[in-house]
Amino acid sequence: MFERYDISPVTRLRPTPLRNTRFIADVHLGSLARSLRLLGFDTTWERDLADEAIIEIAGDERRIILTRDKGILKNGRVTHGYWLRSTDPMQQLEEVVRALDLTGGIEPYTRCMECNGELESAKRSKVVRAVPLQVFLVYRDFKRCKHCKRVYWRGSHLKRLDRIVERARSVGERPGYLDLAESGELAQRAADAWRHLEDCDLCARYCRINRLETIKGAVCRTGERAIVHSQGPHHGEERPLRGWKGSGTIFFSWCNLRCVHCQNWDISQKGLGRELDVEQLAELMLDLQVQGCHNINFVSPSHVVAQIIAAVEVAVRKGLRLPLVYNTGGYDSLEALRLLDGIIDIYMPDMQYGDAEKAHRFSHVRNYVKFNREAVREMHRQVGDLALDENGIALRGLLVRHLVLPENISGTDRVLEFIAREISSGTYVNLMDQYRPCYRADENPPLDRPITSREFSQAIAWADNLGLRRLDRRLSPAP
Ligand code: SF4
Repeated sequence: MFERYDISPVTRLRPTPLRNTRFIADVHLGSLARSLRLLGFDTTWERDLADEAIIEIAGDERRIILTRDKGILKNGRVTHGYWLRSTDPMQQLEEVVRALDLTGGIEPYTRCMECNGELESAKRSKVVRAVPLQVFLVYRDFKRCKHCKRVYWRGSHLKRLDRIVERARSVGERPGYLDLAESGELAQRAADAWRHLEDCDLCARYCRINRLETIKGAVCRTGERAIVHSQGPHHGEERPLRGWKGSGTIFFSWCNLRCVHCQNWDISQKGLGRELDVEQLAELMLDLQVQGCHNINFVSPSHVVAQIIAAVEVAVRKGLRLPLVYNTGGYDSLEALRLLDGIIDIYMPDMQYGDAEKAHRFSHVRNYVKFNREAVREMHRQVGDLALDENGIALRGLLVRHLVLPENISGTDRVLEFIAREISSGTYVNLMDQYRPCYRADENPPLDRPITSREFSQAIAWADNLGLRRLDRRLSPAP
C-alpha cells in the first residue's frame, strides 16, 4: 500500500498517510492522467482546472497532486504531492510508478481512460447499439464505464495499451538511470557533476579545490581521471549482490578516509592502480555486464562521483542495463548524493562509528557521525529498504554495513539504534565480525586484536532487541 510522500525537492511529511492511492493531475498532465487510469488508478483531470481548484479537490478527496509546477506544492494547504521531472508522458508514468511504488497496485482496464469512471462487465446484448456492427460481430467480451457509458473491447488498439501496462509493471525491474538517460537528464547530471570538480564538494571533506587543475590539497589525491585498482566478478559480497554470477566490482584507488586499520591500505592510502578516462571506465562496466555479473559495484566511489556519472552516461548509450551499487565508506556529501539521485539503485554505505571522537582518532576524519547519518538518511530517501527479486537478488534499496570493532570502538549500539529508530527497522544490515588487525592497527590498541565471540554476540543481541531482523548472517561469530 502506498504510504510514501515525495514531492522533493519540495518535500513535506504529513502525519497521516493516505490509505487509498488517488491522484489529481494538473492541466498539463492529461496524457499521464489517461495512462494512470489505464493502470487502474483513480485520477482526476480536467482541461481547465485552476490551481486553487486542484488544491481544494486534493484536500477534500484526499488525492495526491501530480504536477510539473512546484508552485502548487509550496501552497500550505497541500499535504500530498509529487513534482514530475520528466516531460515525456511515458517517462512521466514510469517516474510516478517508481517514485510512489505503485507496481503492486496496478489493475489495468478497470477504469475509464476518458472520464475516470469504474468499468464493469457488460452483456453483449446490451452494447449492440453502442459499438460498430463489425465490432459487435467479432468480439464477445465488453466492458462499459459506469459513469459515461463508454464501451470497451479488446480491439487491435489494445496492443499499444498492453505495452504501456507491461512497461509500467516492469518499472521495478529496470534501473532508474535508463529513464534519466532517455529524458536527457543523465547527460545534464554528468555535466553538473563535472563542474563540482572545479570547487570540490563531492565528499564530506569539502576540500574546495579545483581538481581539473591540481590534486594539491585534495585528500583523495585524485584529479580529473579516476584511478582504478582492479575490477571483476566478486563472489564475496552479500548474497543479494553476489548471487551466483558475482557482483561486478570496480575498486577505486585512494579514499577520503584514513583508517589506521584499513585492510586495503595499499589501494586506499598508497593509490595503487591505473588512471582511466571516462570512456575506459564505461568499458569496464560493459565488460562486467558481458561477464554476466548481477550488478556494477563501485567500491570506494565517494571521491569519483563525477567520473562515475560521466562514465555511466557513456555506458548507457552503449547498452549498460545492470543495477548500480554505491559501496561507500559513508563519508559522503549531500551535494554528491543529490547528483546520484535516480542513478544509483543500491546504496551500500558503511556506518563505521557511532562516536565522532573515535572516528577522528582511528579514521582521521571530522564529524563522521553527522555526515554519515545525513548521508544514510538521504540514501534511504532515494531508494528505500532493500528490494529483492524472486531469486533473492538486490534490485534497489539500502544495505548498511557495520564492522564490529574491539571494545565497541565502532559504537555498534548507537549505530544500530540510529538505523532502527531513524531509518527503518526493515533495513538490511550486514553486521560484520571479520575484523583483523591490519596496516597500523598494532600501534592503535585495542585495534591490535580481533573481536571476541562475546563482543559479536553482544552486537547481535543489540540488533535483535532493536527489532532489526534483516541481518546478513553468512559469517559465524569470531572464535
Ligand atoms: S572528493 Fe572529497 S577528498 Fe576529494 S577533493 Fe573532493 S572533497 Fe576533497
